[in-house]
Amino acid sequence: AVRDTAEEEQCSVYVVGGFVRDLLLSVPTQDLDFVVEGSGGQFAQALMKRMPNGKLTQHITFGTAQIIFPDGSHLDIASTRWEHYSFPGALPQVEESCLRDDLFRRDFTINSMAICLNTDRFGELVDYYGGKQDLQQGKIRFLHNISFIDDPTRMIRAIRFAERYYFSFAKETLDALYTAIETGVLGKLSVERFSEEMLLILKENNYLAMGQTLVKCGLLNAWFGKELAWNFNLDDAEESVNWSLNIRWLSSVSRMDSAEIESLLERVCLNKSLRDETIHYIHLRESLKESLSLSEMDRLLTKAPKEVVFVLARDESYKHKISECLKAAQRINMSLDGKALIKMGVKQGPEIGKILDRVRMAWLEGKISTTEEEQLMARK
Ligand code: ATP
Repeated sequence: AVRDTAEEEQCSVYVVGGFVRDLLLSVPTQDLDFVVEGSGGQFAQALMKRMPNGKLTQHITFGTAQIIFPDGSHLDIASTRWEHYSFPGALPQVEESCLRDDLFRRDFTINSMAICLNTDRFGELVDYYGGKQDLQQGKIRFLHNISFIDDPTRMIRAIRFAERYYFSFAKETLDALYTAIETGVLGKLSVERFSEEMLLILKENNYLAMGQTLVKCGLLNAWFGKELAWNFNLDDAEESVNWSLNIRWLSSVSRMDSAEIESLLERVCLNKSLRDETIHYIHLRESLKESLSLSEMDRLLTKAPKEVVFVLARDESYKHKISECLKAAQRINMSLDGKALIKMGVKQGPEIGKILDRVRMAWLEGKISTTEEEQLMARK
């Protein structure tokens, strides 16, 4: 469809960036980014006619469009020429640049290649900046030496790509990374963009190695302005492959004290579930420091999100307490519920909760071990 639309619109179309990199590396890739030499808006609209189930969103100021499909997948289209309207009804200001400039604005040489999709040049690699050679030699190299100053997220991206593909840094790129860290440019980074990049790291299989490098090169400390006890332990590598994003995040902050986690929360933008779980984690950890009865522990653990309990149960300080309580909870074999109590004549209301609680605690503490004893306990 892209090729046919390119013919129809008489413009050149390229697939660019990560797709080309991963194609040359023969690794699977998901996202497709296109660059159109010509009017991107017109191209996106013409392409939509061939993709009736897609939904088009255009971002005129950024010169980009996105077609989203019902299954959540999407195509991103950028253009080397886009019409800007400064106010409704104004004449379009047409900005022209070329593919070479578009590719120069990218982060690293390995991400700055394009493949032409037009029929007469189909499959032709456009590689102005030596991306293919850097891929072959396993190098992360920026395109110009103020790259990290222009956009500090590129420092985090550089480490992500290096650890993902087991690449090393080209010398000047590494030097520039350290210089950029020293100059404090990370302070320019918005909460949103930093968080986005950190979450991308946490989603990677190899996130522990990435986290370690972020700490070792001083980037995380420079960003926060103070040393934090991040936990990226390579001994967890095998296990962590199956961890959810929330578990990975909670585990990363698990060595920090509660006040540090709270101040970190002010500097990151997390979705509600992640933020709520982090707060729950702090509270539960603080409570577990107290001496608690089995029933108090059980109450806390049953109320807590599973991921919070999971991370605390891996912590040497709380491991023992939690496993004792979970073991005791296995004894619970409740057959009673609210409905059964109403049948037994208990009035609907708070009394039901209280009775169920009492019965659960009796199971937990080993005071009852049969259904008959459970019934007796409920009637007490
Ligand atoms: P991934 O496999 O992680 O999705 P990707 O390269 O596809 O990697 P995206 O974040 O989707 O990553 O970016 C698409 C392309 O946009 C990149 O390949 C790169 O060319 C360009 N790009 C992304 N972020 C930046 C940035 N901060 N500065 C310059 N170019 C960028």
